[in-house]
Amino acid sequence: MKKLADIGLIGLAVMGENLVLNMESKGFTVAVFNRTVEKVDHFMNGRGAGKKFIGTHSIEDLCASLERPRKVMMLVKAGAPVDDFIDMLIPHLEPGDIIIDGGNSHFPDTIRRTKYVESKGLLYIGTGVSGGEEGALLGPSMMPGGSPAAWPHVKEIFQAVAAKVEDGSPCCDWVGEGGAGHFVKMVHNGIEYGDMQIINEAYHMMKELLGMSNDEMYEVFKKWNTEELDSYLIEITRDILGYKDENGEETVDFILDTAGQKGTGKWTGVSALDLGIPLTLIGESVFARCLSAQKDLRVQASKVISGPEVDFKGDKAQLIDDLKMALYGAKIISYAQGYNLMMEAAAEYGWNLNYGGIALMWRGGCIIRSAFLGDIKKAFDNNPELPNLLLDPFFKGKVEAAQAGWRRVCATALENGIPVPALTSALCYFDGFRSERLPANLLQAQRDYFGAHTYERTDKPRGEFYHTNWTGRG
Ligand code: NAP
Repeated sequence: MKKLADIGLIGLAVMGENLVLNMESKGFTVAVFNRTVEKVDHFMNGRGAGKKFIGTHSIEDLCASLERPRKVMMLVKAGAPVDDFIDMLIPHLEPGDIIIDGGNSHFPDTIRRTKYVESKGLLYIGTGVSGGEEGALLGPSMMPGGSPAAWPHVKEIFQAVAAKVEDGSPCCDWVGEGGAGHFVKMVHNGIEYGDMQIINEAYHMMKELLGMSNDEMYEVFKKWNTEELDSYLIEITRDILGYKDENGEETVDFILDTAGQKGTGKWTGVSALDLGIPLTLIGESVFARCLSAQKDLRVQASKVISGPEVDFKGDKAQLIDDLKMALYGAKIISYAQGYNLMMEAAAEYGWNLNYGGIALMWRGGCIIRSAFLGDIKKAFDNNPELPNLLLDPFFKGKVEAAQAGWRRVCATALENGIPVPALTSALCYFDGFRSERLPANLLQAQRDYFGAHTYERTDKPRGEFYHTNWTGRG
């Protein structure tokens, strides 16, 4: 009898093709299907030729080719196609079979789909897959959530294909129930926005304020990549700054300064607003992209609105060191805020998240991979109940040590009119977070004045509410 496949995959586009090649290379047999079925034949005669794949031309064939419990993974365009395939799959599956969505789905959709699929007696997994095309082929970071009973059946395959860190641990573990996997992937993407923005702000200061050439900046990023900022994004920034085209032109200088966004950064910001979490660095990073996209308006404004002349007379080497400290401090804030959001979501949606495990999943295979994530893992290993990363002794010490340079960077940028919204907002969060008293007493008074919203008093027990007739009018 023909061997049945260990897993099935729908969606032979960039991600799907590379992920199934990765699975096959680890010894699994994979049945493949694609809406446009010619792509199945193309794959079977091309990259898949001579390998352990079963090409199928219908959902029925696909399901009939699978070992039980059947595991079918979709890597298709996020949105309606995922719902369509779920409905097409259900009639061909049996209780205990597993449907997996590996696309960039929004977590509320995954919560809804998990309930729906479970109501049909099946199991569901929504998994974040990070690392793009190369990650899918060589080892992505994978963040699965959904029906807990499904995990033991896919664990071996997922952990075999995932990226591994130095000690061999896979960058993939069970994240939690319902939409937890896609939520954590969304926060990952938000952190990616933040890490990119702070690097861009450092670049802006080196270029505009210090007048550094791309070659000089290349050297700085090269050095930084051997120190505490060691990360994939610092590494590719180094390479971009060093890149010259066939005519010797420095390509980065010719790229239009308007950034796009596909939506996961926005989702992270919206979720933070919904849950009432101060996710300021990621929020500013999304807004910085929005401002960059208003190119025509900025060109118009640049011709009529003046600001300070850029004039730096300080110590250039010192400012470069300060920039490193600013990036390091802001990065700690970004993760502190991102973890704060995950903790609040876990409480809101009833997820039991493993915070150290999440850091490990991001340690390799994905865009935000960095040495720094090992320290976050340690912080949660030391205290699984850690309420905020800034209260971990290691990170508290690091951010305290970074703050002098970080403050000099922000002050210099503001004096010279160079926008550094992520670096400054992160510093303001830090100062707010470490303040026993904020000016919200006045704010509560204002709310009480115009809206009789009442306030609590410092000299009375919490939970007692007072109202003042501020105008004396009856
Ligand atoms: P994609 O361009 O997002 O989607 C292409 C696949 O979806 C094809 O198999 C296509 O079938 C199918 N599809 C599109 N519209 C459909 C519809 N209306 N009904 C049924 N099937 C439809 O592919 P991708 O870039 O490989 O990404 C797959 C998923 O992974 C997405 O959710 C994406 O956001 C996520 N992701 C992508 C990356 C990346 O770097 N590309 C990284 C991480 C996550 P046809 O061939 O028939 O058109």
